[in-house]
Amino acid sequence: MYNTIKSFNEITLTKLRPLIICDIDSTVICPKKDISYYINNIKKILNEMNDTDITEDEIINEATTLYLNNYYIIDNIKATDKKGFQDVIDKVNLLDGTLIFLTSRKKTVSELTERTLHNILNIDTNIYKIYYTENKINKGQYIKNNLMELINKYDDVIFIDDDEKQIKSIYKLNKYLYDKYNHNDNNNNTNNNNNKITCYRFEI
Ligand SMILES: [Mg+2]
Repeated sequence: MYNTIKSFNEITLTKLRPLIICDIDSTVICPKKDISYYINNIKKILNEMNDTDITEDEIINEATTLYLNNYYIIDNIKATDKKGFQDVIDKVNLLDGTLIFLTSRKKTVSELTERTLHNILNIDTNIYKIYYTENKINKGQYIKNNLMELINKYDDVIFIDDDEKQIKSIYKLNKYLYDKYNHNDNNNNTNNNNNKITCYRFEI
């Protein structure tokens, strides 16, 4: 199971050389205004226009689109927990580890994404690299395909995401890694920690 956290300070970091794999949207940044702001605004406009044909579902869909569009407008974005995140980076550096970002965003918005992390969280993305799944595969699969060499260099690997589906994809990866490395060792398993990657779900 994963731990749900509301601040990055709740992450346990004690072992040397940790690797943090961190999501971006709804984890380290979020829109300044929450979705209810857009729902109320749409309702107000519909009211003024005397429009009663639009269903609640349609309103929510439209509000969701407006809300999500904010992720690509730096002025409309804020840090979820700037102080807590900075503390994590400081601790990671102190423990001689590293942090990378793993996002479902497309590579076509990489410049904007780098600028967003720099402006909002003061992150130097030359040091803290960003990897893009482009929503083609889940993050567990992406790590398996592209980042195994990196994660094998670290003993304490931590994954942070707001999306339960992505966390579940890491469980699958953990199971795959466990089976792979413990294949003929069922009765002589001295490894108490079965999971290579520890998961945290960030909740805004
Ligand atoms: Mg996210």
